[in-house]
Amino acid sequence: MDRASLCGGENGCSNQPRGIMDLDTKITEVKNIGPYYQKRLKKLGIERVRDLIFHFPRRYNDFSNIIPISEIHPVRKTEKSSQPPLPKISNGVKINEECCITGKILEIKNVRTFRRRMVLTKAIVEDKTGAIKVIWFNQPYLTNVLKKGDGVCLAGKATLTKGGIYLQNPVYEKIAKVGSATSDLLTHTGRIVPVYPETEGLSSRWLRFILKPLLVKLKDKIKDPLPEKIRKENNFLPIKKAIFQVHFPDSMKLAQEAKKRFSFEELFLIELFVLGEKIRITKEKAQKIPLKEALIKDFVQGLPFQLTPSQRKSAFEILKDLEKDYPMNRLLEGDVGSGKTIVATIVALNVAKTGHQVAFMAPTEILARQHFKTLTKLLQNFKLNIGLLTGKEDKFSSKKLKNQFIEISREKLLKKVKNGEIDILIGTHALIQKQVKFKDLALVIVDEQHRFGVKQRAKLIAHRSTRTGKQINTDIFIPHLLSMTATPIPRTLALTIYGDLDLSLLKEMPKGRKTIITKVVRPINRKDAYNFIRNQVKKGRQVFVICPRIEPSTKAELGAGQASQSSRRINSWTEVKAVKEEYEKLSKKVFPDLKVAQLHGKMGVKEKKTTMEDFKKKKIDVLVSTSVIEVGIDVPDATVMMIEGAERFGLSQLHQFRGRVGRSHFQSFCFLFTDSPSRNTKSRLKALLNSNTGFELAEKDLKIRGPGDFFGTRQWGIPDLAMEALKNIRLVEKVRKTAKEILEKDPELRKYPELRARLEKFKERVHLE
Ligand code: ADP
Ligand code: MG
Repeated sequence: MDRASLCGGENGCSNQPRGIMDLDTKITEVKNIGPYYQKRLKKLGIERVRDLIFHFPRRYNDFSNIIPISEIHPVRKTEKSSQPPLPKISNGVKINEECCITGKILEIKNVRTFRRRMVLTKAIVEDKTGAIKVIWFNQPYLTNVLKKGDGVCLAGKATLTKGGIYLQNPVYEKIAKVGSATSDLLTHTGRIVPVYPETEGLSSRWLRFILKPLLVKLKDKIKDPLPEKIRKENNFLPIKKAIFQVHFPDSMKLAQEAKKRFSFEELFLIELFVLGEKIRITKEKAQKIPLKEALIKDFVQGLPFQLTPSQRKSAFEILKDLEKDYPMNRLLEGDVGSGKTIVATIVALNVAKTGHQVAFMAPTEILARQHFKTLTKLLQNFKLNIGLLTGKEDKFSSKKLKNQFIEISREKLLKKVKNGEIDILIGTHALIQKQVKFKDLALVIVDEQHRFGVKQRAKLIAHRSTRTGKQINTDIFIPHLLSMTATPIPRTLALTIYGDLDLSLLKEMPKGRKTIITKVVRPINRKDAYNFIRNQVKKGRQVFVICPRIEPSTKAELGAGQASQSSRRINSWTEVKAVKEEYEKLSKKVFPDLKVAQLHGKMGVKEKKTTMEDFKKKKIDVLVSTSVIEVGIDVPDATVMMIEGAERFGLSQLHQFRGRVGRSHFQSFCFLFTDSPSRNTKSRLKALLNSNTGFELAEKDLKIRGPGDFFGTRQWGIPDLAMEALKNIRLVEKVRKTAKEILEKDPELRKYPELRARLEKFKERVHLE
């Protein structure tokens, strides 16, 4: 507990504002929020009073049942030995359960223990029915706050020790007169008490102390952003009541009702934003790309295989979008191996042959290089210039005619991009650097889009100004955007945070693929699995081994949106360590007779590239890797995917790993090694055995792990409340419908100023991320 909270409203300090206060008042203006707390609050994005009162509790402690002291600790009259007295159980309150009492302090003092160097604050508190001992550990300042004769309300656990029954470390609150405590006067005890998300240096007690008077004061200034019709239809509590009840509820039922209202509100804002963006983008201009039917037919007929029906349908949907004069924003979603690259290639060909440029961005160098090779080969008869631009290399290849690569300097390549000589530029994040200027960029393709942030994608599309220079407005086009992902987005998320995208799905796999046999391997069966793997290698097959991070810190687990620099560094470091150890073990002890190699992020670009190429050329049998190979690499002879510490990965991610094998007519296998026998692990991994489509798994992942683990959700800074609501498809659908109705009639939200204000705030939050 922090010292500042000593001033728990009881000592005459209250947070009176210095001036007139409303929701927009900065927290720096609020009394009792000093620099220390300002800093802490700012970290949470809380800068104004509005942010503070919309900082909701994570859960509640129900201390509302105040009981007479006699009901906790009456000593049995028949007890004669020195045995500790046994508790009588009454009113359901037992030893070791939370209880709440009020009483007068008969005695309070600090005692120092010698052995453990601790300060104990010991007190005796009495009410009409009896007295109880109270003990606090290491909070000596309590004797400055609580004095003999004071009335207190205490909430905590009663425990049984050698010295009898104690209330241990109870939450305390001063009251004027014993028996006078009613829940509206109480803040920390004797009522349902809010517990806020844990943040270093910001205790729930302090937040309660600040929030309660603020809420009382501001109640009448909080306007309802929800249109009345929506409120009525959904039977929502009015905002004034809801905001108080969500923090200091009179009953758990009211707390739930308040939460229901606010989670609707949060989702509603997301929908308004997303649908608003969708409307906005149709007002932008993009180049119309006519569909070149003969060209596409020619290309498709030259392929060594037949397109699947969904590949045809998706390519057609995309090409149709490109014919429009406003920018496409479409997501091509298909399981690993479903053949997204071909679809992208068809579209790129059509755009390039119309005379415009295409940018194709991939999340890793390996993948960018693979795409470069694939496209170069597929398009070899179409007389296009294709460039490759990655971050770390200083040599770049550009392809002119037929199948030869030319290494050119970055400078030259960039010049060719700028003067329009390069038709298709493939690359990594390097594509969004400032120096990269296109002459006439009409299509941006982003592979594994979930790997990129909202901002990075936005930067790529922002290329318009460079193309048109300072010409008149009507000439300003922005490129069409095609995103691709193998991470299936659960329906609720597709409707909400991805709701501004149109969706094309690759539903089936190319013909001739065999279902991958998936097995969970427990420690005792490890040897058998190794033997099996050796036999596979003898048959000419290859093996992937994936290692997880060793100790994922909780911060790192938050995902890209929130992981701090340092935690991300820790992350990759532990991953590397795991790979090195596993590599040592496999190459020396388990498979000394096989060719084992490793691949991780700390290796140089060249080294990584050679290793990957050696693996493709079958110079390597077993490749031990971090999760970098999660994305898109194609090695047809790899038939075994072995995943260590499988319980540490999300289902969708495991599914992606699994998709790295099974790319040929050979039977493929996926072995999930786990030492964790927990039921949750079992049920999760089982889901992987029973379903083969990424969609099913994504829905399961959402149920088991929650939306926080899906890429993208964290970027939005979606509050916990809305995160929960995202699991509820019926709610999401309803909210979406409501938002649509409102926007159709009033796209600018002119009739709803309060709602518009909230939406503006929401946008700021999203763009800040
Ligand atoms: P992903 O969707 O995971 O990006 P790719 O585009 O890398 O998948 O395709 C995986 C493999 O399947 C590639 O080798 C590709 O040539 C092949 N492929 C794509 N479409 C078909 C098809 N219709 N029939 C047979 N093989 C195909
Ligand atoms: Mg791919």
